[in-house]
Amino acid sequence: TKWVYTFGNGAAEGAADMRNLLGGKGANLAEMSSLGLPVPPGFTITTDVCTWYYDHDKSYPDELTAQVEAALDAVGEATGRKFGDEKLPLLVSVRSGARVSMPGMMDTVLNLGLNDETVKAIGADANDMRFAYDSYRRFIQMYSDVVLGLDHHEFEEILEDHKQLKGLTLDTEISADDWVGIIEKYKALVEEELGNPFPQDAKEQLWGAIGAVFSSWMVPRAVTYRRLHEIPGDWGTAVNVQAMVFGNMGETSATGVAFTRNPSTGEKTLYGEFLVNAQGEDVVAGIRTPQDITEKARIEAGSERPSLENLMPEAFAEFQSYCDKLEKHYRDMQDLEFTIEKGKLWMLQTRAGKRTAKAALKIAVDMVDEGLLSEEEAVGRVEPGALDQLLHPTIDPKADRDILATGLPASPGAASGAIVFTSDEAEEAKAAGRPVILVRVETSPEDIHGMHAAEGILTSRGGMTSHAAVVARGMGKPCVAGAGGLRIDYRNGTMTVGGRSLNKGDIITIDGASGQILSGEVAMLQPVLSGDFGTLMAWADRARRMRVRTNAETPQDAKVAREFGAEGIGLCRTEHMFFEGERIIAVREMILAGSEQGRRAALDKLLPMQRKDFTEIFEIMKGLPVTIRLLDPPLHEFLPKTDEELDEVAKAMNIAPELLRDRALSLEEFNPMLGHRGCRLLVSYPEIAEMQARAIFEAAVEAGRKTGAPVVPEIMVPLVGLKGELDLVRSRIDAMAEAVANETASTIDYQVGTMVELPRAALQAAEIAKSAEFFSFGTNDLTQTTFGISRDDAASFLGTYQNKGLIEQDPFVSLDQDGVGELVQIGAERGRKTRSDIKLGICGEHGGDPSSIHFCEGVGLDYVSCSPFRVPIARLAAAQAAL
Ligand code: PEP
Ligand code: MG
Repeated sequence: TKWVYTFGNGAAEGAADMRNLLGGKGANLAEMSSLGLPVPPGFTITTDVCTWYYDHDKSYPDELTAQVEAALDAVGEATGRKFGDEKLPLLVSVRSGARVSMPGMMDTVLNLGLNDETVKAIGADANDMRFAYDSYRRFIQMYSDVVLGLDHHEFEEILEDHKQLKGLTLDTEISADDWVGIIEKYKALVEEELGNPFPQDAKEQLWGAIGAVFSSWMVPRAVTYRRLHEIPGDWGTAVNVQAMVFGNMGETSATGVAFTRNPSTGEKTLYGEFLVNAQGEDVVAGIRTPQDITEKARIEAGSERPSLENLMPEAFAEFQSYCDKLEKHYRDMQDLEFTIEKGKLWMLQTRAGKRTAKAALKIAVDMVDEGLLSEEEAVGRVEPGALDQLLHPTIDPKADRDILATGLPASPGAASGAIVFTSDEAEEAKAAGRPVILVRVETSPEDIHGMHAAEGILTSRGGMTSHAAVVARGMGKPCVAGAGGLRIDYRNGTMTVGGRSLNKGDIITIDGASGQILSGEVAMLQPVLSGDFGTLMAWADRARRMRVRTNAETPQDAKVAREFGAEGIGLCRTEHMFFEGERIIAVREMILAGSEQGRRAALDKLLPMQRKDFTEIFEIMKGLPVTIRLLDPPLHEFLPKTDEELDEVAKAMNIAPELLRDRALSLEEFNPMLGHRGCRLLVSYPEIAEMQARAIFEAAVEAGRKTGAPVVPEIMVPLVGLKGELDLVRSRIDAMAEAVANETASTIDYQVGTMVELPRAALQAAEIAKSAEFFSFGTNDLTQTTFGISRDDAASFLGTYQNKGLIEQDPFVSLDQDGVGELVQIGAERGRKTRSDIKLGICGEHGGDPSSIHFCEGVGLDYVSCSPFRVPIARLAAAQAAL
């Protein structure tokens, strides 16, 4: 078996399309090498080795040693060096690389191959002992941290102590001799902590690092990251071993990262940061604040520190040409890493760059204009869930701004919340329903859970490509990074800025678009969608087959949904129209009435309210389909609870409160969700269905007359399990249609259908379809009843199920395609068998979930229906599902 693939010198054994085997980094290094870009030679150990390693008690396949040695020899030949040699030693980097990038999650070791002897040879060869020792101390620290498991803080303390002793502030001020002393202390620390000296044998170092990379696949933070991003655990990581090139060889050397377009806005301009005389980790870790790559960015930022364009114009021009070449080759925005060693440019990585939703839209639309992508390809380039970001609020420009400080605008959107200084506090606050801003000096992968929990993230250190910035952009959370004016004191729980001091719990607002940090809560505006949004959505609408409707019951929701492109209402929950004020009293009267006569009296009060609501909704929807669901009140949500509420209703009904209390008690149920709700209530009290049908038909006639567009209401009966239930309710609806038609001297066109939200309804769909012109899959209840898991109580244990790997996702959020999905499939098939043109839709929460929408496309549903703010997401997801 071939376990190792080499690259370098304009050739490669791998290619970009081998990412499953070589990981993203390895596949792209191979591709760049084949394209003739200057890539330091190296080799990739495949992801299959990782799988083998975990399947075989953390050991390697037999052939691996020989294949690695042969590849090392080849790298040595290409560089004129030899691994472990004491005259011209080859040094290598060892890095992880999974199929999809997991930024900062797994480990890297640089400068590997250094020991007490090779360091001298490296120094002599470079004619720079300071550089050699700087590299060696970096290596000892990194290797000890990553491979030997020692805390890097201990090393930093030694370094800080030394700087303090010598009165130095910057690492670059430390001399060769000083480094020698520090290295001795580092080695002593390792020996003291581990009882063994720091490994001097280069091969031992190499295998140690390879093992550490494979092991890092299973560290908790990587496991958590995979769970959050739905990355299967069995993909494994590859290991990339590559000849070192040095960005820390003095003032003509540098290292940096860049995006071929602005990852925040999508603007077509090279965008990145670099550090002179540094190694790659320095940029990402945010230890020194980096400089801008282009003059344009430098001028815009008002920075006095020179750009790369200015400082090393030749290397810059060459880099720019590679950016163009790679973008055209991959037909996507690239995220690049590079190093300049004594003026010579080396490319270390390329991959599709992470971007905000705003940037994703702009880049997709621009690339169609540039002829790089087709419209359909562009539709596929934007992740539907990411559109959520665009729907975030921004700060009202008219609001007063009490600006505390300004940092880098690292991730767009604005958020307010109470200051917390640790990720655990952020998580606790989230659980308690309190919005917080996570404030850190810098973030690390250990902070992922806190970043998830917080409304926004603020750091005092690090650039636009720091951990906080990259991760926040990926999450779509507002982030202000590198706010250097902040002094954060974790111990006392304070943050001082410009002479003002704030404490944990104080409210601040961050504006990820401007980088501003504001005191207190600030007024926000709902976002206005850009022209790019409209363009891409128009392409998506052309590509999709399924219709997208919305779940809405108020005129306001209906309006918002129309603006987001909803093509009708898929679910109008009439019980939700009764939650407020006078209305709930009338509903309570109806529920608690002791007789049909009493119920009818209460219903008479409700009729005009219903008719008015429906008329307004029909008018807003201008002839688009509207599905109105008859009353489905889980009784516990509507029964009066407090004495005050009881008194109110008793007064309205003109009966004694005690009597009413007895009635309310007698109506209490053990399992209201499985109780007297939905069509069961309508079977007991058909007059409810009559009142609602009357309100709907009268409103339809009125709205039709007003707008001139005929209204064809779709009346939906909830929680049907037996065809007979539907027939009974349907007979009342049909009779009412005839009555209203006569009274108003008009013809009334309408449809009657049912929710499919019980397993029995799905199984009996052929029978039920005889009486239903449409089905709408109510996957909230269908999930509840298929799993036998109460939707109201699931939260307390589903988390445990996820942590134990029993389920990948909450089935109430993303459709359980195997189980609940099979019932949907059965329901659709059997329904169509009876009535080939039966209209099929979904209106559970899953109607707005991209992967569930893919499933619905597979089943051939006619439409999905979701909450107003998810309509754009559903439109895009439906388009991608159809492509
Ligand atoms: C459903 O059950 O999926 C549904 C849409 O109805 P509700 O959430 O109102 O029970
Ligand atoms: Mg339901």
